[in-house]
Amino acid sequence: MGPAAAGERPTLIRRVVEGGAEKIVRHDGRAPDQMRPVRMEVGVLSNADGSALVEYGRTRVIAAVYGPREVHPKHMSLPDRALIRCRYHMAPFSTAERKSPAPTRREIELSKVIREALEAVVLTELYPRTTIDVFIEVLQSDGGTRTAALTAASLALADAGVPLRDLVAAVAVGKVDGVLVLDLDEVEDMYAEADMPVGMAPSLGKIVLLQLNGVLTPKEFRYALDMAKRAILELYRMQREVLRRKYAEAVPQPAEERG
Ligand code: ADP
Repeated sequence: MGPAAAGERPTLIRRVVEGGAEKIVRHDGRAPDQMRPVRMEVGVLSNADGSALVEYGRTRVIAAVYGPREVHPKHMSLPDRALIRCRYHMAPFSTAERKSPAPTRREIELSKVIREALEAVVLTELYPRTTIDVFIEVLQSDGGTRTAALTAASLALADAGVPLRDLVAAVAVGKVDGVLVLDLDEVEDMYAEADMPVGMAPSLGKIVLLQLNGVLTPKEFRYALDMAKRAILELYRMQREVLRRKYAEAVPQPAEERG
């Protein structure tokens, strides 16, 4: 897959002694419970009803939302609620080696899990017989694309003005060389003993995405989930801040109205 696959296994975890205490350092210098630098932006596409760009380190994902709008083909429409359709796609240039643009089984699975996570928060009952379409394009992949995609999709829905019970934010946790780590990048993901993406609607206190690839003991699972929850609360704070900033700019301030 990635460049590391061709070469030797890189050293992913180092234990360094600093001031008499042992410190665990990951291959990119992060602490075990540290996320990569996060960037979020909304309203990045003028032709979509709502859009968002999210970066977790080198992972860069864009989400575009259309709707609620008429369903085509019509027979897919639901009498009592809106249909949510979701397409997760990796751009051919998003990987080190060109990825075929044709949808893979992995992309079909990710489209489904992201759609199910969004269904937990969208007030679909307000828009019967319509569709809300969510397009996710991975522009650059370095691990954690499904979690960045979910964070971006929820921001794009909010940006489109779709009524939501809550925002959704997501991050992966996992075990690398016996150490529980937050927000695995591609090389860590490749050699991980376990990889667990977690998505939450924090104010509802609801887990909307949870997958586990590999093995964790119950104790490790609880520790990893707690680490994910803490990071999700921080992502949630950033999401609300980025939305607030955009809408504060869009709505004229009282002083400007008077002037
Ligand atoms: P996630 O992106 O949610 O972590 P995976 O665990 O399936 O999902 O993938 C881990 C990483 O492996 C991806 O983020 C990406 O960097 C890389 N990857 C996945 N599929 C491909 C592919 N078809 N070609 C190249 N790299 C890929």
